Amino acid sequence: MGACGRQRVLFENMAWQGVVGHDDVVEWFRRSMARNRLAHTYLFTGPPGVGKRTFAERLARTLLCPASDRHTLLPCGQCDSCRQAAAGTHPDLLMVSKPPDRNVLAIELFVGGRDHRMQQGLCHDIGLKPFLGHRRVAIIDDAHDLNEESANCLLKTLEEPPPHSVIILCAVSQERVLATIRSRCQWIRFGGLPSEALAKLLLKQGVAEDRESAERLAAYAEGSLGRAAELADPQVWQFRRELLAALAEQPLNSVALADSALKFVDQAGREAVARRRRGKLVVQFAIEFYRALVRWLCDAPTSADADLADAVARAARHSGISGEMPIACVDRCTDALDHVDRYVHQGAWLPALFDDLARILQPASTARS
Ligand SMILES: [Zn+2]
Repeated sequence: MGACGRQRVLFENMAWQGVVGHDDVVEWFRRSMARNRLAHTYLFTGPPGVGKRTFAERLARTLLCPASDRHTLLPCGQCDSCRQAAAGTHPDLLMVSKPPDRNVLAIELFVGGRDHRMQQGLCHDIGLKPFLGHRRVAIIDDAHDLNEESANCLLKTLEEPPPHSVIILCAVSQERVLATIRSRCQWIRFGGLPSEALAKLLLKQGVAEDRESAERLAAYAEGSLGRAAELADPQVWQFRRELLAALAEQPLNSVALADSALKFVDQAGREAVARRRRGKLVVQFAIEFYRALVRWLCDAPTSADADLADAVARAARHSGISGEMPIACVDRCTDALDHVDRYVHQGAWLPALFDDLARILQPASTARS
């Protein structure tokens, strides 16, 4: 939760152009607006934390502001509309997102609770006449977590959107949004930031203290500023240090490794996406370790930091470790990484991964045939 708040503050100070790294999308909307060809419904997709929601909010302010600049796509920032949007009290700006304690966007958000069905909720409110200007804008965050009931209600609105409405759905990927919803939206993709630009941004925003840590965060952040802010957590790097030290042991204590990895996943809270990301990180750290070990065993230069270099040097000292072993470990980890998104429970695949790694690294004399 802390990371989210922090991320919001980070984006808040950014102008449209350049900094957010989505100039192509800005340009696309600028042209659509200039030609008066805005769609009624948009689907924004991209990795978590790349700024989809922030972009949607900024676009909403522009669409609602009567004095917005069509060339820069910037709202005036001074009118009633802009002030109310900034304060979160704009009557024509509707926002829906998943409550922190829920896994789905519940039907109540769209059509009201049982006692007020069809008299409240986003599908009702978007049909009301604009209060301030001539538009109403709705932003639906976490649209990949619509359940069937909610999706069906929303679908009716998307089939016949009110003439004055613009509805923006934000989701992590197009595949995770129901096809029926998808087909009614104009699809806009948000890519990640290049890691060099991201590292600079992390320094500028004070997320990282020095260039080395900025580059390290950027390397793992998959182009996402939000993700980088999340990774700027000492807990993550403490875990990496312990993981690397444990991976350097021979034989591998797969039970202890799985326990500490699962504890690390649990620290992310209950949200499935955050837990999956931590699971991925465990595997990414392991891959990094085995790759560095391969290079060490071949006397190839590595760009390892102190923790990694130390762990690799200790691992390489064990007799019976041959170059093929860490290569097989990288393969096994890469395979796990490819499947992380399919697993619901980290509790099953993480222990299996460490068991397999321990088996691969067993010296030939003790290996069972
Ligand atoms: Zn304005």
